[in-house]
Amino acid sequence: MGRLCACFDALSSLLCPPRASCMGCKSLLGTESGWLCSDCQKALKPMSDLKGDRCPCCGMPLDKRGRCRTCGDWPEGLISFARSAFLYDGPIRGMIHAFKFNGVYRMAEEFGVYLENTMILEKMDRPDALIPVPMHKRRLRKRGLDHALLLARALGRRAGLPVWEGRLLRVKNTPQQAKSSASSRHTALAGAFLASGVGNSRILLVDDVMTTGSTALACAQTLLEAGAQSVQLITLAGAPIKGLL
Ligand SMILES: [Zn+2]
Ligand SMILES: [Zn+2]
Repeated sequence: MGRLCACFDALSSLLCPPRASCMGCKSLLGTESGWLCSDCQKALKPMSDLKGDRCPCCGMPLDKRGRCRTCGDWPEGLISFARSAFLYDGPIRGMIHAFKFNGVYRMAEEFGVYLENTMILEKMDRPDALIPVPMHKRRLRKRGLDHALLLARALGRRAGLPVWEGRLLRVKNTPQQAKSSASSRHTALAGAFLASGVGNSRILLVDDVMTTGSTALACAQTLLEAGAQSVQLITLAGAPIKGLL
């Protein structure tokens, strides 16, 4: 029996090698399982646990005057409801960075759990299909990994929802403009996406981080113009506007 256990251990460590360090603080994980040390696990900030008022539309914390600084200037009627699993702060930043830039593909499964929990906790309407926010093929070649697609597939597997790949394409490779406002980014993104085969469906867009939401807004506009009935947005993390928290 002992030999069998040793054999199993050897096989499982071959398939799932022990993770060297915590994705949040880089400390050695030792025997702890998962991607984060126990301190970072506790430091994750699920949006649904935040104290204080949150925006009914995008779920982000409101400022002192009760205004939403994230979706306040979004054009009407494009994204009906948006939620993020976490605030883009603390250990989730390290996890997303490792996922996107160090190619830690296996993390997508854990992110799928976070996203499914968010759909349930935030009482999101069940969509007909998931569509990942697409990357331009030139950027995909450079990055080598379509992180939004991996997230959508992981959520789709858990929630039993289809992932519509290739029905929303990014046809214009616009540079990222992190500092400009949502409305100017929205204008810059006009015509950047192309949708097909989405007629009369309720779509849930999937992405890793929501900052101003302008990319998702441009996707939503394209999907609605192509006949989609409604568009919601789910992301792993929502970046708080500077100075808000
Ligand atoms: Zn840690
Ligand atoms: Zn909002």
